[in-house]
Amino acid sequence: MATFPPEDLAMRVCQAAADLSSAQQRFLADLIRIRSYTGCESEAVERTLAELRAIGCDEVWMDSAGNALGRMGQGKPIILYNAHLDTNEVADENEWQHPPLTPVVEGGAMWGLGASDCKAGVASIVYGAAIIKTLNLHLDCTLIIMGATLEEDAEGFALRALVERDGLRPNCVLLAEASDLCLRRGQRGRCEVRIRTTGEAAHASQPQLGESALLKMLPVIQALEDMNRQLPDDPLFGRDTQVVTLIEGPHTPNSVPSWCEIAVDRRLAPGVRREDVLDAIRAVVEPLGASAKIPDQPVLTHTGLRLDGPSFYPGWMMELNDPLLEAGRATAIALWGDAPPVGVWEFSTDGTYSAGEAGIPTLGFGPQEERFVHTPDDQVDLLKLEKAAAFYAMFPFVYVQQQ
Ligand SMILES: [Zn+2]
Repeated sequence: MATFPPEDLAMRVCQAAADLSSAQQRFLADLIRIRSYTGCESEAVERTLAELRAIGCDEVWMDSAGNALGRMGQGKPIILYNAHLDTNEVADENEWQHPPLTPVVEGGAMWGLGASDCKAGVASIVYGAAIIKTLNLHLDCTLIIMGATLEEDAEGFALRALVERDGLRPNCVLLAEASDLCLRRGQRGRCEVRIRTTGEAAHASQPQLGESALLKMLPVIQALEDMNRQLPDDPLFGRDTQVVTLIEGPHTPNSVPSWCEIAVDRRLAPGVRREDVLDAIRAVVEPLGASAKIPDQPVLTHTGLRLDGPSFYPGWMMELNDPLLEAGRATAIALWGDAPPVGVWEFSTDGTYSAGEAGIPTLGFGPQEERFVHTPDDQVDLLKLEKAAAFYAMFPFVYVQQQ
């Protein structure tokens, strides 16, 4: 019996990936040159739309949340490739060996801000589609390429807008975040909780007339730290964690503070719900006179759309025998003869929406290495970049065959 995909398809895909690697690198270099902090992705989106046109997508558009989108093929199933265009902000440019917005090729890697998170992922999915077009392969499905916005500050929000506002409902989502050419089947979630105490203001020269909200917060902070010993423990993801990350009060150094607010960053295993987090924290802080809530994350797209929503990002995990994971393995085996290791992400991704909220099967695969993400050594290995494009070219044919 003939195996699918045929061996010569794998060879042709790998050859085309090699032939297109210079163009793929030029596109990545252009993306690195563009500063694209969260909410300010217009130029990177325009550049991506231009590339999607150049590689011959059947349709290219920007959705209402300002994501760059390209389509190839039509009909069911709908496969969505996602990688985000926004980057983390540079903390101190002096720490960088090369200027962050200047792409430099050195030691077989391309260096630059966002190379590993997540512009190399964008170049991988766009060039996966370019390979399909170059080889003139017929797609028995709809392939959507998404250069996503807003991921760094509000992961999942731009993808939610595409699905729920603009009505595009994919059958599966592939995330080209850093995985070092391994497969990722889940991630920890995260949540922000705001905790507030109130007191009574008075002039600092007569503190006995007031009540300090800041002093009321001290036992609350300790109690929140102590909760770490009893948070849910997951066999794969480990114990949930929570950290008090900031403290605020009135900016009046000569008054007894009438209010105090802290933020807690909570990391959570798949299955932990919003109510679980809030109920557990309330049980601890309310007896101490504090209130707790999950705040709205303020989100403004570069197109001017407000997408504010709860700062809750659920974790997710796909079963080891899920057909989507099987298709990912089979794609790698067809190309390189080996199934790559399967793991989970420590960090959060757009999968928090697709898998965590919408229940759409979601798989991670990217050429970037996690150790370079959000560091001044931001870079991507160029051979891995080329291999990721081959993976994204091959995947639809394996996936469709399996349906
Ligand atoms: Zn990322």
